[in-house]
Order: sequence, then structure tokens, then C-alpha cells
Amino acid sequence: MPFSIADAVRRHVLLPATDRWRFWGDVDARIATLEERDRWEPERLRRWQLEQLRHVLEYCSARVPFYRRRFAAAGFDPSRFDDVRQLESVPPLTKKDIREHGEDLFATGVARWTVKAGRTGGSTGVPTPFHQSHEEQAWVEAETRRCRRWEGFLPTSRAVALGGRNYRPTWKTRLVRAYVRHVRRLVPLPSPFLTDEKLDEYIAAIDDWRPEVVYGYPSAVYLLSRRMTDRGHRFPFVRVVETGSEKLFDHQRAAMREAFGFEPYDGYGGGDSPVAWECPAHRGLHVLQTSRYIEFVDDAGRAVAPGEKGRVLVTTFHNDAWPYVRYDMDDLAEPMPDEACTCGCRLPRIRCVHGRAGDILRTPDGRSITPANVTLVFGPLHDRVWAYQLVQETPERIVALVVPGPLFADADERRLVSDLRSFMGDVVGLEVRRVADIEKTPAGKHLILVSRVRPVA
Ligand SMILES: [Zn+2]
Repeated sequence: MPFSIADAVRRHVLLPATDRWRFWGDVDARIATLEERDRWEPERLRRWQLEQLRHVLEYCSARVPFYRRRFAAAGFDPSRFDDVRQLESVPPLTKKDIREHGEDLFATGVARWTVKAGRTGGSTGVPTPFHQSHEEQAWVEAETRRCRRWEGFLPTSRAVALGGRNYRPTWKTRLVRAYVRHVRRLVPLPSPFLTDEKLDEYIAAIDDWRPEVVYGYPSAVYLLSRRMTDRGHRFPFVRVVETGSEKLFDHQRAAMREAFGFEPYDGYGGGDSPVAWECPAHRGLHVLQTSRYIEFVDDAGRAVAPGEKGRVLVTTFHNDAWPYVRYDMDDLAEPMPDEACTCGCRLPRIRCVHGRAGDILRTPDGRSITPANVTLVFGPLHDRVWAYQLVQETPERIVALVVPGPLFADADERRLVSDLRSFMGDVVGLEVRRVADIEKTPAGKHLILVSRVRPVA
């Protein structure tokens, strides 16, 4: 790669400066720490995690009202904690817990203005708020950049991101966009809906920007890949394809491989934080046990054996403002037998993540509706809608099932219809139906999109 002064300035001046402003800390130093922990033997990692857990659990017991009550009710005493299996007596933190007791999850004595508020995309149909300290944000950013080093996706790499929403141009979004383009060198290609015309427009934009990296929602990158293959179009400058936020299906992976000529990298996370990431060996995803504690458990909360599917639970080590203890991601994943990976990273692996499934719905006028589109619409309603699902009953008819909370008003319903219409178009009939509950799959998973028309590949 030719040496560029602009790159050096970006890498060594602009990026550290913006990091300090965003995270109040040094991200690079944390990456070095994580890369050292990656190489630890499993036993050393377990000992270190036990230490961290003891510290976090005692903190939660002393400072977080919700956990103080929960630990007492479960008969769990953090001061006697000396074996991770003791944690199994503490019930997982569910999205319902957060909805009902969110205020009690704040640690006492933490200044609220220092805490970043966000919400999960609700890819399983239940958008949920979260809050992160700057310390937690710095570690989350470090984890993400460390994993991207595996791909060769550096903070100076030119990239395009497929997915996300169109922001209205204000001075703030313009500023963010300028930072993103000139410091992060990222061009966002929002995908509220992707018609062939839109995909052709994006293909031209990618040829123009010449990114090294294409990343985004699997459903969006998949549609782009199919369009590339249909047109026989190649991007010889793209070296890395990365997907995240939704389940990456095998047929999507195959389409990406065909279009780009190499294997994509898949990342899995939630609440803005990575949990597991694919390495250059492309055999499973390494579980990021280096700054949090991640479990895979059965319905009784006990660890599952390798090869079995378990619910994914996360305990944070660095979020002293609003810690997670056994936060249930509402996903199922399958831990692999503990064998050293050929990539050199010693972290355990999972085979794949189930339960982020959802069809892509196709409207008769050729628009594709992905789970990601729909989560963007329902996200702002997280305090008024408990669950939702879009069902395409016939090609021309979609029903939005909504489990309303007490605050859900007619105005919300009107806004919902207009937001859904913005990417669905006017060809399909749309009905909002308020229901008491939404049927789960036989595996107990909640789907956002269900097509009764045909499984659209
Ligand atoms: Zn590996």
C-alpha cells in the first residue's frame, strides 16, 4: 500500500483526537490489551474472568438497586463468589425486566449526563433501551477494531456501509457525515428499500468511491451481490466484505462469495456491542470473552455442552453506569468444542447464531423489505410497542401485528403506517392489527418478518 501523508494524519492525529472526544480514552491501548488476552490459554482466561465477575457482582450488589433485590431473592451472595457456576442461580436479565425496571438498573452516584443512551435494533422484534458509560464505549470500540484487524479492515480503510436510515440533513448530521467521510473514510449507503434501480445507483457510487471494504446488513449486501452477479459486475478494489446486525444465511454467504470472489466476515452483537466475530479461518465466530463474560445456557440457566444450542447471556465488566448481569440477548448460539483455531486466537468459538431469522418480503413492484428496515421504524416506539411482526399474507397484503403497551396511541399507529409506507410503497395493502401476543417459532424465537407467500431467497 503506498504511503500517504493524509492516511498518516488520519491515523495518528485525527483518529486519536476524535477517539478522546468520543470515548474519553485511548482506544488503541485497549486494543493491545485485548490482543494479549486473545492469546491466553483458556484456564488463564477463566481465572481472569472470575476475578472480573467477582468485582462486578459486588459492585452491582452495593450500587444497583435492581441487582441487590434480585441477588437477595435468588439467595446469591457475591461476597462468596468463587466459581462461575454459582452465577447460574441468578435469573437472566430479560428485555421485560429492562422495560419494567430500567431506572433501577442505573448505579447510584453516577452522573447521568456522562452516560450514552441507545437502544437495540430489536432484531428479534422487541426494541430495548441500553445505557453505556464512556469506559464501556471505549472497550466496545476497541473490541470492534480488534476484530476488524483480523479482516484487514483498518480505521483508515475506505469503506461503504449498506444499511441504516436516511438522516434528515441538519448541521449535526452534516458534521457527523463529514467526520465519517473524512476521518473514518466511510460512505453510508442507506437501505430503507433496495430496488434494482437503487442497487444500480449504489453500484455506481461504489465504483466512484473505490472502497476496500463493503459492510452492512446481510440482507442488503446479499441483494447487492445478486445484482452484481446478474450484471456481471465486479469491484476489483474491494478486499473485505463484512456483515452484521442480522443472521447471515448460507445462501446469502454463497451469493457474496460468488459476487466478490472471497468469503465474507460475519459479526454478531447486540446493543451496539460485538459478542462474537468471524476470523480469517472462517470456521465459526470467536466469542469475545476479553472484556465481558458471555454464556450459552439452557432454559434452566445452566451452561450447554458444545454442539448444543444455548441462549446467549452477557455480563459486562466495564459499564459501571448501567451494568448487565446475564443479559439475555434473545438469541440461540451453538458453542463449538474447545480446540485451538488455526488463526492463532485462543478464544472459544460458536458455530452460528440462530434466531435472528426473518424472511425478506418482496412487494409486487419489486421492493425488498428486510428485518433491518422494519426495526428502524419500530425502534423509536420502544416504550409503546412491546412486540411486533409483519406478515405478508398474500403478495398484495401485509399485516403488521403489534402488541401495544399502555402508552400506544392512535397517533403512533398513524405514524407507523406512514413510516412503513415510506419503504413499502403503495402497491401492498397494509393493516395494523393490535394483538395480545405474537406466535413464536417452534424453537421459541420471535420473527420480525413472516412470508406466507413464498420463501424469497
Ligand atoms: Zn480463528
